[in-house]
Amino acid sequence: MADYDVDLFVIGGGSGGVRASRMAAQHGARVMLAEEYRVGGTCVIRGCVPKKLLVYASRFRAEFEDAAGFGWTLQHATFDWPTLIANKDKEIARLEAAYTATLEKAGVTIVKRRAVLADAHTVQLTDGQRVRAAYVLIATGGAPSYGDPIPGIEHAISSNEAFHLPRLPTHVVVQGGGYVAVEFAGIFAGLGAHVTLVYRGENILRGFDDDVRQHLRMDMEKHGIRVLTGCKVTAIERTGARFSAHLSSGNQLTAECVMFATGRRANVAKMGLEEAGVAIAKNGGLAVDEYSRTSVANIYGIGDVTNRVNLTPVAIREGAAFADTVFGGKATAVDHTNVPTAVFSDPEVGAVGLTEAQARSRLARTDVYKAMFKPLKATLSGRDTTVLLKLVVDGVTDRVVGCHVVGEGAAEMVQVAAIAVKTGASKADFDATMALHPTTAEELVTMRQKSATYAREAAE
Ligand SMILES: Cc1cc2nc3c(=O)[nH]c(=O)nc-3n(C[C@H](O)[C@H](O)[C@H](O)COP(=O)(O)OP(=O)(O)OC[C@H]3O[C@@H](n4cnc5c(N)ncnc54)[C@H](O)[C@@H]3O)c2cc1C
Repeated sequence: MADYDVDLFVIGGGSGGVRASRMAAQHGARVMLAEEYRVGGTCVIRGCVPKKLLVYASRFRAEFEDAAGFGWTLQHATFDWPTLIANKDKEIARLEAAYTATLEKAGVTIVKRRAVLADAHTVQLTDGQRVRAAYVLIATGGAPSYGDPIPGIEHAISSNEAFHLPRLPTHVVVQGGGYVAVEFAGIFAGLGAHVTLVYRGENILRGFDDDVRQHLRMDMEKHGIRVLTGCKVTAIERTGARFSAHLSSGNQLTAECVMFATGRRANVAKMGLEEAGVAIAKNGGLAVDEYSRTSVANIYGIGDVTNRVNLTPVAIREGAAFADTVFGGKATAVDHTNVPTAVFSDPEVGAVGLTEAQARSRLARTDVYKAMFKPLKATLSGRDTTVLLKLVVDGVTDRVVGCHVVGEGAAEMVQVAAIAVKTGASKADFDATMALHPTTAEELVTMRQKSATYAREAAE
């Protein structure tokens, strides 16, 4: 590798790129990393972290309302958006500095510029500098996609801009049915805006368990979010400070903010990939093998740019596996099964493993256990909400293959339940585990009565 300027050039300083760089450097590689925006990437700068901070802010409204049933009298609570955004920005800046310092301490050279491939071993920076690298890792993530062009699309914002709005809009239209759309609908509504969620499909959160989708929608609607499915925004018109969103149903919605959360596309464009011979997969991301190697032997791709499982812990794990494989002498593939996931909606969703529909199409027999009840806290608060817990079990082996929760604490519950699902715990193991009382999660180990049993269906 002495013929090269560096052993590894990493393009993209997000979750995956940062982890891969640091670990490769720790394995002794000479590493350079290019980041065109801010070190930390989507998750830290305009994804998971700032979003969760906004989610926390949005949940105080319900907490204040619930407090009355427990004897508290609160003075009139007010909310100040600029304070929230300023405090959030301060925390994000702190994290960015911490990530930068960690990389520098590990010996990684950071260049704050856009980088593209000139050929398989040469990276071109925007200042004209060319760097020769033995290996190149593409970790450029993804970007919001607005779907097919419509008139007035320039008036719509994506999640990127939602984090920097100068003030909280009073009326918001969110188009999309995925987790980002649902989460932002909850954030805006919790902070006091009137929110309408518009989604062209038949129900929100495609890919999640059907009971979860139905339950979440019902609760969102109870909490004041209007959900319109089976239609989409066809045009956005500006009238002074407000916008009219024209819908395919013929209706029109007036809002101060129209947000599109209609998916993301892998950052593969204008990267010099074609020239270097790097193939693109059918899913629009980089085509990679189990070790994240692209069609060019010395070029690898990890994280959202491969469009496999677009979550931060997955990008981090892929980055670590890449470093171990190429520089640690230990070929490591990432297991993409049973990845737990959460939606920080109102109420929250946590899920791991197979949905009921997936299990019924794949397994000879599927047993379903479900519990739906008013949580203890809601008895005194009077909040109109119910919790859903669901276990999907392989009826032949008794193995728990899916766990789905909607309600307060769902994400925390499912992170722990994921250990059991991943390690192949059976329903009998769940039953043998002592309940922890009084909790919502105890229901996961006390569901004795099957809700249903199904024999395999023809197709998913
Ligand atoms: C609103 C939102 C909320 C999310 N919430 C969650 C969540 O709760 N939990 C979760 O697990 N995941 C969440 N995600 C997904 C998560 O952010 C991504 O899966 C994760 O950031 C992927 O990491 P990555 O390293 O692949 O890419 P990224 O983090 O996107 O990093 C890629 C980096 O590459 C840089 N870059 C791109 N092109 C170039 C170039 N040519 N030269 C130099 N630099 C370049 C970009 O500026 C960026 O910093 C969320 C995403 C969004 C948008």
